[in-house]
Amino acid sequence: MQRVRRHFAADANCSVCHSAVKDVHHVLRGCSRSMMVWAAFVRPDWLADYLSLDLVTWMTVNLSDDSHFGIQTKEWDILFGTLIWHIWLDRNNHVFNDCSCDPNSTIARSTKVQRLCCSARQEARRGGSTMQSSTIGNVGLVKWNRHVVGWYCFI
Ligand SMILES: [Zn+2]
Repeated sequence: MQRVRRHFAADANCSVCHSAVKDVHHVLRGCSRSMMVWAAFVRPDWLADYLSLDLVTWMTVNLSDDSHFGIQTKEWDILFGTLIWHIWLDRNNHVFNDCSCDPNSTIARSTKVQRLCCSARQEARRGGSTMQSSTIGNVGLVKWNRHVVGWYCFI
């Protein structure tokens, strides 16, 4: 809707699934492509509830409770964050570059970033970095700064 109102797009429907609703909730969870990604990680008996939570509760629960929804409960908060990030990147790539990303590619890239983040977290907990420089390149230890309660940052 915003893109049509601002004359960036002529069609208000989702360009992936052609749904009439196209908001943040739809992009991150309601779109058929996003649902395929979540279905790979969320316990099937929880999937309907998972996809119907309001956005703030959904993010809060997933970023603070490792064991609530995920099939894989270890480091779920990191996996959740990387999945959201890659779903968002793929959507932008689709909208702005007309590139269709396969949900399996989204899953593969997200799990790879999760593994790297988990390794970095474990190294940081041990108090040092013994990771190979080729693994992390020129990236130093990254620290996440908590945002003000009620705000979420995707970058
Ligand atoms: Zn859609």
